[in-house]
Amino acid sequence: MIIVMRPHAAAAEIDAVEALIAKLKLSAHVSRGAERTIVGVIGAPPDKETLLAQFAGLDGVESVVPISRSYKLVSREARGGERSIVRVNDRVSFGGSQIAVAAGPCSVESREQLELTATSVARSGANILRGGAFKPRTSPYAFQGLGEEGLRYMREAADRSDLAVVTEVLDPRDVALVERYADILQIGARNMQNFTLLREVGGVRKPVLLKRGLAATIEEWLMAAEYIVAAGNHDVVLCERGIRSFDPATRNVLDLAAVPVVQGLTHLPVIVDPSHGTGVRALVAPMSLAAVAAGADGLIIEVHPNPAAAFSDGPQSLTLPNFEELMGRLRTVASAIGRSMPQSQTAPV
Ligand code: PEP
Ligand code: MN
Repeated sequence: MIIVMRPHAAAAEIDAVEALIAKLKLSAHVSRGAERTIVGVIGAPPDKETLLAQFAGLDGVESVVPISRSYKLVSREARGGERSIVRVNDRVSFGGSQIAVAAGPCSVESREQLELTATSVARSGANILRGGAFKPRTSPYAFQGLGEEGLRYMREAADRSDLAVVTEVLDPRDVALVERYADILQIGARNMQNFTLLREVGGVRKPVLLKRGLAATIEEWLMAAEYIVAAGNHDVVLCERGIRSFDPATRNVLDLAAVPVVQGLTHLPVIVDPSHGTGVRALVAPMSLAAVAAGADGLIIEVHPNPAAAFSDGPQSLTLPNFEELMGRLRTVASAIGRSMPQSQTAPV
């Protein structure tokens, strides 16, 4: 069972809920968000109906939700069936009628690369700049990223083009550093069940983009999101990025059915990464269009000014003109399903 407090409920009201839980010899898990506190009640109460009424009668309580699923705070029931909107800033949010679009290189390579990419993708209508400064590479000998220097290039390029920044944090010790530069902290597929890292970003007051693990079930993915929310950060956006299967024709199998499945199970927004999902440049546009048609709340797409020279993931990166063309096609699909794409800050030249 979870108890959802009204926004900005008084400390005394939350204390009263905790006191009642203690009196009933149950245990409480309190998740304090920026606006709202949610109290999870753990234990098997003897008479559920009476108990629900007791909590519902307390001051400051908005709703009491009996939840038998393993994930609770992220379940759709926890928000009374409403979908959450995760706000990044005045221009960028996930889960509303506008589709969010993050675009940029796999790895941050240089200041020039970032400037060129940011200016171009912003003109095409992206509203978030992506790029990795800490790279989770399969080989320890492959390029590992520019670290803080890369974060600085991201921030500067994004600010000049009025874009938000999403970038991956690999290590719990780097969370504070990445938080200083990024607007959204990305947890990569390989870290989806790094529980220490999940708890750490649960303490941050910025949205987290949680990628689905390479071989994670939807339930495991939602449980990972539950870790972050339970640690106090309610602003989690899920990202389907393909799962591993037996067929090498694509790098991963992009599970687009996961979009409506997840939307039925959780109130959190869900976006799609067609770049890692397919690993093939020619498949990025069709899968982006399909993702939006399937109801995704956003896209994260690898774009590089010269994919042939990219330090990582060149074969799946769109060129700047490829991305411009795709954005035009996405506008048609979005409007066909009653959604919109971000407006370009500067008119296309
Ligand atoms: C990335 O987006 O840069 C990335 C490494 O993705 P994933 O964690 O999905 O492999
Ligand atoms: Mn990549």
